[in-house]
Amino acid sequence: METITQQLVESMIRIERICTVCGRSISWRRKWARDWERIKYCSDACRKRGISTRDRHIEQMILDLLERRAAQPSICPSEAARRLAVGSDWRPLMGPVRMAARRLQRAGRIDITQSGRPVDPDTAQGPIRLRLRQVGLQL
Ligand SMILES: [Zn+2]
Repeated sequence: METITQQLVESMIRIERICTVCGRSISWRRKWARDWERIKYCSDACRKRGISTRDRHIEQMILDLLERRAAQPSICPSEAARRLAVGSDWRPLMGPVRMAARRLQRAGRIDITQSGRPVDPDTAQGPIRLRLRQVGLQL
């Protein structure tokens, strides 16, 4: 039997964990209670997949595309996928591009937006855009 105190302590240490591969928040699981602060992946799939040099390249490409866009400071993830595909089918690259975008968003580099407003990448439905996060800039 679990005491109220145990439940309280558990809920207090359940700080949000973010998957280092896909950038989604990780759902708390009882079996991870002891290691919660060390949990890095949301799933076996993400642990096996890891982050490749190509994934880092995608992150850099997104930042490069955004930094060159002073006038229209946001991009559709498909722009990064198309550039990466160089002539071949870009659609299979949308998954890795969205993962890279979530990692950059979690790292505070970019915002993921819908209708010009930052959204939570865990719950956003439908088309998203990416833009550099403006730090301390009031327009
Ligand atoms: Zn994951």
